[in-house]
Amino acid sequence: MLANARRTHTCGELRAAHEGTTVILQGWTQAVRDAGGVVFLVLRDRHGTTQITIDERSPAGVLQAAKDVHSEYVVEAHGVVQKRAGSANAKMATGEIEVVATSVVILSKTRPLPFPPSDENVDANEETRLKYRYIDLRRPKLQANLALRHKAYMATRTYLDGEGFMEVETPILTKATPEGARDYLVPSRVHAGQWYALPQSPQIFKQILMIAGADRYFQICRCFRDEDLRLDRQPEFTQIDLEISFAVRETVMEVAEGVVRSLWSRCVGYDVPAIPRISYDDAMRRFGVDAPDTRFAMELVELNAAVAGSAFGPVKAALDANGLVKGFVVPGAAEGTSRKALDGYTEFVKAYKLTGLLWGKLDAAGTLTGPLSKLENPAALVSAMGANPGDLLIVAAGNAGHVNPGLGKLRIHVAKERGMVPAGVYSFVWVIDFPMFEKLEAAPGEREWQAMHHPFTSPRPQHMDWLGTDKMADVRADAYDIVCNGSEIGGGSIRIHREEIQQQVFTALGLGPDEQRDKFGFLLDALANGAPPHGGLAFGLDRIIMILTGSESIRDVIAFPKTARAQDLMSGSPSKPDPAALVELHVRNTDTP
Ligand code: ASP
Repeated sequence: MLANARRTHTCGELRAAHEGTTVILQGWTQAVRDAGGVVFLVLRDRHGTTQITIDERSPAGVLQAAKDVHSEYVVEAHGVVQKRAGSANAKMATGEIEVVATSVVILSKTRPLPFPPSDENVDANEETRLKYRYIDLRRPKLQANLALRHKAYMATRTYLDGEGFMEVETPILTKATPEGARDYLVPSRVHAGQWYALPQSPQIFKQILMIAGADRYFQICRCFRDEDLRLDRQPEFTQIDLEISFAVRETVMEVAEGVVRSLWSRCVGYDVPAIPRISYDDAMRRFGVDAPDTRFAMELVELNAAVAGSAFGPVKAALDANGLVKGFVVPGAAEGTSRKALDGYTEFVKAYKLTGLLWGKLDAAGTLTGPLSKLENPAALVSAMGANPGDLLIVAAGNAGHVNPGLGKLRIHVAKERGMVPAGVYSFVWVIDFPMFEKLEAAPGEREWQAMHHPFTSPRPQHMDWLGTDKMADVRADAYDIVCNGSEIGGGSIRIHREEIQQQVFTALGLGPDEQRDKFGFLLDALANGAPPHGGLAFGLDRIIMILTGSESIRDVIAFPKTARAQDLMSGSPSKPDPAALVELHVRNTDTP
């Protein structure tokens, strides 16, 4: 039998209705079961698995050929579809049938695999799995993730095409874009000493496309940011990037909601309800973070008034320093929370520069015990926090910049630990009215402010006059983030479309005229040549796929991800370049003299 004939069906396709059909299947051997006079092979491709049976119904010699097949060999099987003699295998989509083989040919053998490609073995060392990514990617879970990602591309493109958007590619070899991370740089061979930067986002190009009359642009694009990696961060990641001319905030938010609706309905069959909005200030007040997880309550409560005048050390210190006292109530947790768990919480908030936590337990009789009971008026605290008998009270006192993120992240940690986060829920919220600027902890003479989004974001019209004045911290931006389950999945803004305002913002950020021209002269020129009002947004596609597939790690939704140390273990990058190439690029490696 000639191997590598044209296959007639995939391994996930055959059903009882195919009984009697002569078929050719090809795939990996997921399992071999040799029962002496009968051999069962389970063939797998990305569509599913099918059982091939070789027994006395098969021609002479086929049984022997089947006995040479081992796990993960690539095999071609010819045969006839038969209903299974016994009961159907409900665990297989093709479980009603088997293919009784007329021939079995090995198309490709394999060395012993470093790990079996099954979802049960995901605990196998991740480095090994990334080195042999092609084996890891055979896992049904990762196959499903890639398939869902493909659906997301299709849903996005279909929806945005329907809304009059045009997909346009922008350069990868470009000039630095200020999204706040370190750039990846590429030396130019032609221009000695000059370097390209990889885009942190297509931000400036998409704005220039608006000035060019593109009207509605989108791109599923790769962005590059050289920053410390986390479970939801990769050095190169994908955005659904879009920009709209003649847009106001509502225009962009409507389109963005449309994208979210089509993604969730096409990918997981979920109808996204109306998405509530919350101001940045309220998000910080109620949740301590600007990407609140709204799947559960347990909101933070400001307590400065309830503890005013207290002489209790940590509280007094915070109040005297114009700081913040804030807390949250963990319902019913007074009893089950050990000293060790509380110490763990204190340890947890250290990452956010909070040096301590105060806690109290309200017993069944309504008496407060623990450090918080040292307050002069514990009843005022209990009532301000709305605590009930049996509840645990957690309070932090200090600098607002530490109290908010510390408690905000602890709130999520505690909720996850105590199983308070409902499963299968998608909770969306828009966060709007961000501050335009963030104050840096700068030494005298250093730059004091940085843009919270990026410097092309428009201040709210009513705050334009505050640029460069002592009201910088109060300037609000026409910016918005969309959050799902506590993860920022997209963000954008209405942009500055007038040259002089852009210059004012650059100046307020401490950029002198020469630096403005050097870094952004091309944008300033473009703005001076007929720029329509415009605005847009970018979604982090990888994070969205993580949420849609319920993945903990961003590496599970990218075909060829990098490790937490930014390496591709399969191809072995980064790697040392050929010294001759470096000479051509006018570059010298400082670690190789
Ligand atoms: N370029 C921005 C970002 O990457 C998104 C936007 O403002 O459209 O976050």
